[in-house]
Amino acid sequence: MSYVPLGRLAARWLGMLIALLAVMGLVAWVVLLTRLTVPPKQALAGGRAMLEHRRVLAVVAHPDDADWWIAGTLRRFVEEGAEVMLVVASNGEKGPNRNGAQNLAEARKEEQRAAQQVIGYQRLLFLEMPDREVVKQPDFASRIHEIAREFKPTLLITFDPRHPELPYLHPDHEGVGRVVREWWMREGEGVAIAFFHSRRPNAAVDITDVYEWKREALQQHKTQGLGGAGSFNRAAHARNGRRVGVPLAELFRLVEDRRQGG
Ligand SMILES: [Zn+2]
Repeated sequence: MSYVPLGRLAARWLGMLIALLAVMGLVAWVVLLTRLTVPPKQALAGGRAMLEHRRVLAVVAHPDDADWWIAGTLRRFVEEGAEVMLVVASNGEKGPNRNGAQNLAEARKEEQRAAQQVIGYQRLLFLEMPDREVVKQPDFASRIHEIAREFKPTLLITFDPRHPELPYLHPDHEGVGRVVREWWMREGEGVAIAFFHSRRPNAAVDITDVYEWKREALQQHKTQGLGGAGSFNRAAHARNGRRVGVPLAELFRLVEDRRQGG
């Protein structure tokens, strides 16, 4: 019978634990964390390529989603003279009601309209699907398909359903992204798609010069208490900016051709 001294045994266990943590850290870095999949210069070029589109259809789940994630990019499209339509699937009536609005659904729609005025895109459509149950609605997919067919976008913008940025997940967010992607895979020949809230971004839009509009748009969402969220949001976009070497950026996973799979 051979003895392993207690100290050495403890050291061995500690060594194994450290190795395990290192492996877990590596897995987290590779699989879970947000990272650019292309060099910074290429990501900025991808952002510039996005901005060349002139018919842009963005689909989000709730009022405030667009202002949180993509309003800087939408503003840049407006300044470039693009035709931009924003579709909001639900009124977000299950979200917070921080200023005690009597009718939260109506208040949130009003807030999104005010944000539209700030950013300046031409069209805003509410689908009025029930909050948190958007994708359970039997007509949701057909409505989205109909809108896309009618509007004929050259670029779609929506949530990333396949690689959503962690840890914040929401069934409406990924669900909306999935339905838009489905239409694109089926009928979106010649249409590009840019997924936001992605942990695998490959395109960055420099929003430094338009951040003031985004900040003001965010402030319209008073029921969500986003008036005070400006600095938090700015910090998130500054973090994005550092990845590509500009002060403030919004990130996307851009797929220019559906044959690439998306
Ligand atoms: Zn949302």
